[in-house]
Amino acid sequence: TSVLSERISALQESQTIAMAKKARELMAQGIDVINLSFGEPDFDTPEYIREAAKKAMDEGYTKYMPVPGYLDLRQAIAAKLQRENQLEYQAENIVVSTGAKQALANAVMSLVNPGDEVIVFAPYWVSYEEMVRLAEGVSVPLLGTLENDYKVTAEQLEAAITPRTKLIMYSSPCNPTGSVFSREELAGIAEVVARYPQVHVLADEIYEYINFVGEHASLAQFDEIKDRVITVNGFSKGYAMTGWRVGYLAATKQIAAACEKMQSQITSGTCSVAQRAALAALQGGRSSADTMVEAYRRRRDMVLEQVKEISGFKTPTPSGAFYIFPDVSAYFGRTAPDGSAINTATDLALYMLNDAHVAAVTGEAFGAPSCIRFSTAAADDKLREAFRRIKVSLDKLV
Ligand code: PLP
Repeated sequence: TSVLSERISALQESQTIAMAKKARELMAQGIDVINLSFGEPDFDTPEYIREAAKKAMDEGYTKYMPVPGYLDLRQAIAAKLQRENQLEYQAENIVVSTGAKQALANAVMSLVNPGDEVIVFAPYWVSYEEMVRLAEGVSVPLLGTLENDYKVTAEQLEAAITPRTKLIMYSSPCNPTGSVFSREELAGIAEVVARYPQVHVLADEIYEYINFVGEHASLAQFDEIKDRVITVNGFSKGYAMTGWRVGYLAATKQIAAACEKMQSQITSGTCSVAQRAALAALQGGRSSADTMVEAYRRRRDMVLEQVKEISGFKTPTPSGAFYIFPDVSAYFGRTAPDGSAINTATDLALYMLNDAHVAAVTGEAFGAPSCIRFSTAAADDKLREAFRRIKVSLDKLV
């Protein structure tokens, strides 16, 4: 028998992190690896936010804080949701957590019973499935089609709902595809959800600000289902604050209180100083985000131009986030110069790492085994060089 619990043995290591580890091993050997596996802004946290954190430390924000987050921060989040998303919430509806990741985990743990089905729109962010597994739920991936930019349709959703369905999870803008649900598409989804009163939805809006089409719609804007929608957002992506670990959710008082209880037993809430920095971030508005978004848009366009030259990539144009997610199945069945076969996206990602020295993540990690995810949150010259090398390597496949 194992020392370790069945729970932890069944849990998969994040493949994003696994690929980054392999890339670091090659780098340690002195190899110039371009790492496009991370979902991390390459910008520093804006200076006004860093200054607020320094000040907070000196002002004594060094003690335990309220479990769901400082009241003024929760009020500022409620005001942001009102101002930018037309969502009516009070501080008691908000729980601030250790990143959006913990907000998602709190919600899954608070809603899912063993055996409950959770419909996960695929391609999905790597952690959703594992969170459902930890809650002993059954995740039901529902894959959008390439023709529809991988967005699940209302019809697809309706067909997947069963009496056991408890929760639906998705991100928009989406990691890994960059797809953004329009208001009309969400209206269709809301109509379906409205017909199944046992179904809740976890709407992950962490990439809200990184949107190239302009309009961000929230599922909670549809009044008839608002009480069954949990909206998750945070500071990691829009404010380049990945290391600070601040995210939040907005939900009914009942669900928010459940998430607070969960959090009270596991982390006691997120870092005091990071929360003060998050408050400053919100007070500064979104102009620093807008500057970063311009850079992400320029890089997206540059990379899309380059991947046009790679004949085996079928790449939808991302509307948001900072990834491209080509279908690479045209290369399956080919052979590398060393004689090894390329049969899966994982084989191809490993080949690209070893031959082109570019790290990316296999689509298998996102429930899309025909695809590979490349982060475009890297410097322009690195991106240009990465896709130049990839083309050379792919051209060697026979
Ligand atoms: N949700 C999605 C879709 C993400 O891509 C990420 C980060 O990669 C997160 C949530 C987690 O964000 P945080 O750093 O706030 O925990």
